Amino acid sequence: MNDCIFCAIAAHEIPATFVREDDEVLAIRDVNPQAPVHVLILPREHIESVAELTPSQDGLWGRMLHVAQAIAEDEGIDETGFRLVVNTGKAGGQTVDHLHIHLLGGRQMTWPPG
Ligand code: 5GP
Ligand code: ZN
Repeated sequence: MNDCIFCAIAAHEIPATFVREDDEVLAIRDVNPQAPVHVLILPREHIESVAELTPSQDGLWGRMLHVAQAIAEDEGIDETGFRLVVNTGKAGGQTVDHLHIHLLGGRQMTWPPG
């Protein structure tokens, strides 16, 4: 057992609004949305961050990206555009140490990010 909040969500021990879910990958709405569309795509498996990914997980990472792409389509932001963000480590702004991709859209994004 671990005390990871995303593992608990993946196990349905903590409620979340699921957008998609399969054996490998899940997608939930962010509890504190930063854009009209703000979905988190995460592996069911506990991987801490991009810094921990191994070549054996290339397929899983590819699947996560395709899930993000499919949700962008479902949410109607694939043509207007969207942003994928993967905060990594402390200086990268990561606050939940379970790998996830932020899918943000539905408004104009700005650059540089904070
Ligand atoms: P990070 O800061 O690690 O890149 O992103 C973590 C994200 O998870 C934040 O945007 C935060 O709002 C979201 N988050 C934290 N706890 C929960 C939770 O219990 N449920 C959901 N749906 N999102 C959460
Ligand atoms: Zn976890």
